[in-house]
Amino acid sequence: MTKVVNCECGETVRAESDGELVSRVEAHVERDHPDMVGKLSRDDILGMAEEA
Ligand SMILES: [Zn+2]
Repeated sequence: MTKVVNCECGETVRAESDGELVSRVEAHVERDHPDMVGKLSRDDILGMAEEA
């Protein structure tokens, strides 16, 4: 099951599992939103996800 997170910056992060999605979103946040690092929990990330 593919899940996507549409970041507010316009980036779309896709993954095939919850765990992969969380790690990809965390990597994106570290790269593009360093001020947000540590502010998004796993549940926050999964709450932003949509099935695709
Ligand atoms: Zn972003």
